[in-house]
Amino acid sequence: RARAEGVGGWTCFESEMGRVADYRHWVESELTDAIDRGDFVLYYQPQLSLEGERIVGYEALIRWQHPQRGIIPPNEFIPVAEESGMILQIGKWALHQGCHDARLLPDDTYVAINLSPVQFSDRNLTDTVRQALEESGLPAHRLELEITETAMTMDRIEARKVMAALADMGVQIAIDDFGTGYSNLSYLMDFTFHKLKIDRSFVCRLQDDDTTGAVISTIVGLSRALGAETLAEGVETADQATLLRAAGCDSVQGFHYARPAPLSTFVSANDADARLLPRAVGATYH
Ligand code: C2E
Ligand code: MG
Ligand code: MG
Ligand code: MG
Repeated sequence: RARAEGVGGWTCFESEMGRVADYRHWVESELTDAIDRGDFVLYYQPQLSLEGERIVGYEALIRWQHPQRGIIPPNEFIPVAEESGMILQIGKWALHQGCHDARLLPDDTYVAINLSPVQFSDRNLTDTVRQALEESGLPAHRLELEITETAMTMDRIEARKVMAALADMGVQIAIDDFGTGYSNLSYLMDFTFHKLKIDRSFVCRLQDDDTTGAVISTIVGLSRALGAETLAEGVETADQATLLRAAGCDSVQGFHYARPAPLSTFVSANDADARLLPRAVGATYH
C-alpha cells in the first residue's frame, strides 16, 4: 500500500473513503423506496436543428427528488442502481414516463431516453420498449433510445441483434457520448443506428485549436457514410454553434439553448410555439 501523506494523510483518506461508502449505502437503501414514493422525475433538454434552430426533440434526463435531501443528480445514483440491479425498474419507469410525456409535446418531435448498459443487456428490453409504446400510444418513430459505445461492445453479437430489433420496431437509435469509448470503426459499420451524439469533450475544445473542428467534420463524414445524423452535445456558446455549423453537424443540444427543465416548461397549447425555445428559459440561460 502506498502512503503518500504520512499517517495523517491516511486517516484523512480513510475517513473520506468511509464517507463515500456511507453515502453509497444510504443511496442504495433509499433507492428501494424511491420508485413507490414517486420520487423520480424526468427533466427535458431540447435538441435543435442547426438549420433554423428549431426544437426537433427532447432528451429525458432523470432527477431524484428526495423528500429530505432535495434533487439528487443521476451521476450520484445511476451507478449504484446499476450495481444493485435496480436500474431495470428505474429504466422501465423512465421509458413509460418518457413515452407518456412525449404525447404532450408536438407530434413532429421525439423524446430521447438514455439506456444503461445493464438495461441494454437485459433480455426483456425489446418487450419493455414495446409495452411502453403500446401503453402510451406513442408512435415508435417518436421514441429515440440513447446507447453508449461501451454498452454496444460488451457483447457485440447480441448488441447487433438488439439494435436491429429495436430499429425494426421503428424506434430511433442514437449512440451517446460518441468518441469517448473505444469504438472499433469496423464494427460500428455492423450496427443499426440513426444518430451519433458527439461528446461534449470535443465541443469544449472547439475554440482552442483547428484540429478539433477537423475531427468533428470527420465524425460528421463518417456518420453520413453510415447513413446517420450527428448531434453535438454540451454546446455552451454561440461561437461553438458557429463552428459546429461549419463542421456540418445536423443538430445541437446544450446550455447555450436551454438547460434541462421540467416537462411543463416545454408544453404549449400551440404546437408552433412549442417548437421555439421558451423565452423564459432562453432569457435565463443565454
Ligand atoms: P448524458 O446522457 O450524456 O447527458 C448529458 C448530460 O450533460 C446531462 O447531465 C446534461 O444536463 C448535461 N449537459 C447538457 N448540456 C450541457 C452543457 O451545455 N454543458 C454541460 N456542462 N453539461 C451539459 P445529467 O442530467 O446530470 O445526466 C448525466 C448522465 O446521467 C447522462 O449523461 C446519462 O448518462 C445519465 N442519465 C440521465 N438520465 C438517465 C436515465 O433516465 N437513465 C439512465 N440509464 N441514465 C441516465
Ligand atoms: Mg444521453
Ligand atoms: Mg450524452
Ligand atoms: Mg456526454
